[in-house]
Amino acid sequence: MVISFYTFESASASHSFTHIGGSAFKMKILIVEDEDKIAQFIQSGLKSEGYAVDRAADGEEGFFMLSESNYDLVVLDLRLPKMDGMTLCRMARKAGKQMPIIMLTARDSVEDRVSGLDAGADDYLTKPFSFEELVARVRALGRRYSSASQTDLVVGDLQVSIETHRVRRAGKEINLSSTEFRLLRFLMENSHRIASRALILEKVWGFDFSPESNIVEVYINYLRDKIDKGFEHPLIRTIHGVGYRLCVSD
Ligand code: CA
Repeated sequence: MVISFYTFESASASHSFTHIGGSAFKMKILIVEDEDKIAQFIQSGLKSEGYAVDRAADGEEGFFMLSESNYDLVVLDLRLPKMDGMTLCRMARKAGKQMPIIMLTARDSVEDRVSGLDAGADDYLTKPFSFEELVARVRALGRRYSSASQTDLVVGDLQVSIETHRVRRAGKEINLSSTEFRLLRFLMENSHRIASRALILEKVWGFDFSPESNIVEVYINYLRDKIDKGFEHPLIRTIHGVGYRLCVSD
């Protein structure tokens, strides 16, 4: 069944929605769309599906909002005032934002789709689209993103499965003790910043150790032996007087 976006009200009456939100996890979606009618249609529709939905009315506002907050998915119109969707998409990827982006395009042109995907979009929809089509894409992309982000951590060629505790670097299996694993997981989850000794001590060991203890250094050395030894590019960096950071060196 195809519903044009102008007939959402009548469609919602006859359509039973599946509520995926619940109390445990509510996917947060940002809509960047300047046309009120379409934006409201998408927003109210996705809200009734159980998603948390914010809206930006132009490209600059959209970029600001997704820089300031963590969205799980973005529905992005191509033609926007102040900054077009293609530029926004490119800038978001450049800034390291990895959530799925669905691009809305008014023209059914192959060129637009290709350049949209080149700019870093994951999928596109041509207006007018059916609400069911949009929800199907949101569900599929959201699922892919959340399963990848919740069970696997990846930095460079280092891969860690949170579910199975399997650790691999460049395909080579690495065995870690449970403390080493907790430390590695923490460093990987914080690879975007420097983790101070005090923070590592608190998050990995709790408050059982005095700040004078050298346990962090000891375990960083254990990890280096297993993760970095024998590889050309070490991932664990010491930031002298501050702490550590696990990242691909530039
Ligand atoms: Ca537009």
